[in-house]
Amino acid sequence: MPTPVVVARRRCHTAGVTGSSFHVLVKPTGAICNLDCAYCFFLEKEHLYPGSTFRMDDAVIEAYLRQVIDAEASDRVVVSWQGGEPTLAPKDFYRRAAAIAADLLPPGKRIEWTMQTNGTRLDDEWCDLFLEHGYLIGLSLDGPREVHDVHRVDKRGEPTFDRVMEAAALLRRRGVEFNVLTTVNAANGDRGREVYRFLRDEVGTRYVQFIPIVERVGPDGRTGMQVGTEVTDRSVTGEQWGRFLIEVFDEWAAHDVGEVFVMLFDWTLASWMGLDNPACIFRPTCGDAVALEHNGDLYSCDHFVEPEYLLGNLMETPLGELVASDRQREFGERKQTSLPQYCLDCEVRFACNGECPKNRFVLTPDGEEGLNYLCAGYKAFFTHVDAPMRAMAGLLREGRPASDVMAMPGGFA
Ligand code: SF4
Ligand code: SF4
Repeated sequence: MPTPVVVARRRCHTAGVTGSSFHVLVKPTGAICNLDCAYCFFLEKEHLYPGSTFRMDDAVIEAYLRQVIDAEASDRVVVSWQGGEPTLAPKDFYRRAAAIAADLLPPGKRIEWTMQTNGTRLDDEWCDLFLEHGYLIGLSLDGPREVHDVHRVDKRGEPTFDRVMEAAALLRRRGVEFNVLTTVNAANGDRGREVYRFLRDEVGTRYVQFIPIVERVGPDGRTGMQVGTEVTDRSVTGEQWGRFLIEVFDEWAAHDVGEVFVMLFDWTLASWMGLDNPACIFRPTCGDAVALEHNGDLYSCDHFVEPEYLLGNLMETPLGELVASDRQREFGERKQTSLPQYCLDCEVRFACNGECPKNRFVLTPDGEEGLNYLCAGYKAFFTHVDAPMRAMAGLLREGRPASDVMAMPGGFA
């Protein structure tokens, strides 16, 4: 069976893109960050650990690496550092982690290191470290200056666009593999084609991941927790999300299939090919993408780092046991069992599966709870791409490259 367009080893840096038995987002500095991005859902999590130094110590690193290597059934162990901002941990932290892993790795297993960073602290020495260990870097960049700087500011409220573009240039110059993670929010949501062209032509990235900002406001007015049915005005709307994806898709399908890799399109193609979807959000169930805090606490998902979803601490219970626990299994199965009838009857459910439970807080047209806030966008997008996805899936099944779709009579743009 040919693989989808995506190169299998490319990984995304948000919750739940697997290819391994399970996926852990590791937070060596907890929620601590040097920036103050307006929409960040994680900065709030600092309050879960009052008085903490927010540093993962060697005992936790060792326990985590030992347990993840033991528990991973495949020969490929992925270690994903995230934050907060993981470059706030000293470079020596990552050197020690690599040394510990080298001692623990049995023959035939290998580690793939990844890091999601805002890029503002990168320098040549970081690049040396990345190159030495074969890191794949995820760089956060929301598009051209005027949209990036709307929300991505530092602690003094200063814009960060120039620093992130310097980081992209540095990574390119040093030959460090990187992809770009772009959030889609109210500020860039109507500029899909322009954002995509900017990333492709001016940043020069060939790997892009878009994630929608859906920021709920709790009853106490706070954001960052999965409560409340109101969203901030920074959030993208469902319709806007659909239009954004369609604009990007049309540009990509006309010019860039096989050259630029937009992860959401690869995941979509996996659905049209009848393959297991690599992304948790589009699978019927989830629960195999967990988040590890600096002190060893393990949570059900990066989007549910909340006391109610604390599975335990890996210094007390092994990671594999926590991931396989009844509690976590129920968490993952609820994705499927909580779908409203409207989704069960939906023509594109095979691709969408109600997307992520964190976004399911609106009513269906007939008043049932639990519809995804982004539903209108997903329906529009999946319907729009049906013909080209069928065509690409057909090409791949014949052993031809999906990029042949661009030469088909009439094209698909
Ligand atoms: S709740 Fe489930 S679908 Fe959503 S990000 Fe977490 S693991 Fe993925
Ligand atoms: S498109 Fe809407 S109705 Fe269909 S599965 Fe997704 S969320 Fe449910």
